[in-house]
This record gives sequence, C-alpha cells and structure tokens, in this order.
Amino acid sequence: MFRYGKAKLIDGVTRIKDGIVNEFLIEGSKKAVLFDTGLDLFNIKDYVAKLTEKELVVVNSHFHPDHANGNHHFKKVYIGEKDLPTFTTKDVYFKLVDDIVTATYAKYPKTRKLEKWVDKLLMTKKGETEYDPLKDGDEIDLGDKTLIVKDFPGHTPGSITLLDPKERFIYAGDASDIDIWMFTNPDCSLHTYAETGRQYYHEVAAMGYTRYRGAHMPLTHKISFMRDYAEWMDKLTPQKAFLKIPVPGARSKLCFAAAPSLKHILFTSIYWAHQCDR
Ligand SMILES: [Zn+2]
Ligand SMILES: [Zn+2]
Repeated sequence: MFRYGKAKLIDGVTRIKDGIVNEFLIEGSKKAVLFDTGLDLFNIKDYVAKLTEKELVVVNSHFHPDHANGNHHFKKVYIGEKDLPTFTTKDVYFKLVDDIVTATYAKYPKTRKLEKWVDKLLMTKKGETEYDPLKDGDEIDLGDKTLIVKDFPGHTPGSITLLDPKERFIYAGDASDIDIWMFTNPDCSLHTYAETGRQYYHEVAAMGYTRYRGAHMPLTHKISFMRDYAEWMDKLTPQKAFLKIPVPGARSKLCFAAAPSLKHILFTSIYWAHQCDR
C-alpha cells in the first residue's frame, strides 16, 4: 500500500512521495529546503542525503503526523509559530487526538488493541529535535533563490506556505487542497477559513503567482481553486454533509461533504458541525 519514490519536477525541485504525502526538496545554489518530513515510513534524512549534499533547512508546513513524523531524524526543524509543538495537550492536534482516543477507549475498550498503531502513526515523536518558529514574511536564503514564508491558517492554527518568487510557484502543504480537513482545528470556523482563503488568493494573485502544489495533490492547481473552494466552504452547513457521524470525545458530529466542480473537478471537506457556526 505504501511506497516511496522521487520525481524531479523542475530543475532543483524534487518531490518525494511518502505513500500518501508529498515532501519537497527545493535546492538553491548554496542550501536546500526539505518541506515536510513525512510519516516516517523510511529514514528521510538518509534518503535526502543521497539526493543533495547541500546544507539542509528542514521546514514543516504544519504540525501533523503525516508531515512531521520524520522530524526526529533532524537536529532542527522550522515550523509556523502557531504550530510550534509542546508535545502536550496544549497543542491543538495532540488535544484532539487525546480527547477522542481517551473517550473511544473508555466507550469501546476493545479499541485499546489499536493503541500501538495510534501511537506510531498519529503521535509525532519528540526526540532531540529543536524547533524554531517561522513568521509570516520570513525569508529562507538558499543562494540563488529565496523562499518566502506566507501564513495560511485554518487546517491548523500555524499552517504556512512557501512562495518561490523566482519560479512564481507556491508550496501549500495542507493549507489548500482538494480535501481540506477542517476537523483537525476545531476552534476555526469554516467562515474564518473561507475569509483567509479569499484574502490569500487575492494577495498571491496580485504578486503574479498562478499555480501551486499541495502535499496530497498529484498535480499542480491553479490558485483560483483557493478562491472557489473558499466560496464553497463558506456555504457548508451540517445539512449539506452526505455523512454525519458521532465521535466519542468530540464537541459535535463529524460531517463529510463533497461537491463536483466544472472548473476544478471536486471539492471535499471533513468538518465538525459546530464549525459551520458564524
Ligand atoms: Zn494536515
Ligand atoms: Zn497532510
């Protein structure tokens, strides 16, 4: 089921596939950025060492296990300041997992058998890694190119994107994708996300960007997807979900919604019913 491999996208940019997620190795003349470290299904540090000898700057798009489980291989990882992990339930992600897992084990004791897998896949290891925060507008100098950090919160409080002004290209992590999981940030309303998405779209469009790549997208997307997705999400209600399920330990029901799009093929999202409240 899981496989990993690499694909050279343009000169100096390699996509590393980690089963379900893309990590990007973006090389300049002096340094290289590794954007996300994957699920830790293989040793990403050793793997990247075979691809480049340049000094590596490791950056997380956000603090989720499919993007950060490989962090423990590295001495230092940069991450959006609002996703800076404490590895306690002070972290939005760890609190969500803790609330749901604790309530599920109490209600369905047999699910405890899955504890080992939950810990391995869903709980990023702390390790010896030092975390440093990135702020909106920070620049990462790679030599002949500079990447710019741009916040795009919603999927997590501290989700960041990287702008490459030389290639006029955006690396979006999970901030914008065909399927945005909003349930991982239960305090953010869908309306707030939509406002952020619209504003982000207008800002990057004005800067001349036209295309981007998400961490789970097989292909590149036009940035107009961000604006159109925001419009769709802003109108979501619990009634529009094709499936609603109660989840132990959660504040409201988990909703699954999807809609075809003539221009963009598909919009989908998973959100809590309470996130539709304005
Ligand atoms: Zn994510
Ligand atoms: Zn992801």
